Amino acid sequence: MTENHKEAGIAPVQLNKDSRFKFKCHPGVKCFTKCCRGINIVLTPYDIIRLKNRLELDSEQFLALYTKPELLEKTDLPVITLKMLEDENNAEGSCPFVRDDGCLVYLDRPSSCRYYPLGVASLSHKEGADGDDFYFFVNEPHCLGFEEDAQWTVREWRKDQGVDIHDEVNAEWTDLLVRKRSFPKNVMLTEQAKQMFFMVSYNIDKFRKFVFESSFLDRYEVDADTVAKIKDDEIALLKFGIQWLNWMLFKQGDFKEKESASDADKSA
Ligand code: SF4
Ligand code: SF4
Repeated sequence: MTENHKEAGIAPVQLNKDSRFKFKCHPGVKCFTKCCRGINIVLTPYDIIRLKNRLELDSEQFLALYTKPELLEKTDLPVITLKMLEDENNAEGSCPFVRDDGCLVYLDRPSSCRYYPLGVASLSHKEGADGDDFYFFVNEPHCLGFEEDAQWTVREWRKDQGVDIHDEVNAEWTDLLVRKRSFPKNVMLTEQAKQMFFMVSYNIDKFRKFVFESSFLDRYEVDADTVAKIKDDEIALLKFGIQWLNWMLFKQGDFKEKESASDADKSA
């Protein structure tokens, strides 16, 4: 039902999409919702868009209420995790969305929760995930789902849990993290670059304002169709933002500055 990224509980078996496993989670299991307590859930950009819309919040409000930022040492990039709430039954707290009868945001639950009891290497920022992505079991002693009688391949599980759309939207963002991780450790990003990464990745409503209410569109060549699309479509805006980050951080892609942009502007 949920993902736990505690490294200590992760078995080192690498799975591919055709790997088989036995698992079932349902309200009748004795451990129901245990996996939603005392956990570390890394949120992706698409997770945040789904959750903030579900809760009818803007991204700034969602970040303030439900998340905490962390700096990922391997990439020198900020990541966002769900902020656990105090729970008298669990010293490490509980997910703010868990209730006795299950997940309050089930239809919009994060990617990691969908993948559970699998972990996906790129989302957990594991070493070795830089080529083909791979999966692994998140083996937690309290999870009794492996004793239930239902067979899956990884491919079938992904389809059943609806992770494809998450992975499709997050793909370029994940590539960006992998690219940064492949840089030598001494290549550090400026604070400003990290802030831009944070805004595009996690605060889509702020990024929309940045694009439409600053000099952004005067500085970059963006065709009219794209402007119209990113105005109303958050997913298109996120993908556009990631293209911009790729250009800004790695000088990759075909993002272009207008010739009239001043040298001072170029530093942004
Ligand atoms: S979002 Fe839902 S499924 Fe994920 S940890 Fe929280 S309650 Fe559990
Ligand atoms: S079976 Fe596993 S995934 Fe399902 S509620 Fe129990 S601990 Fe969570």
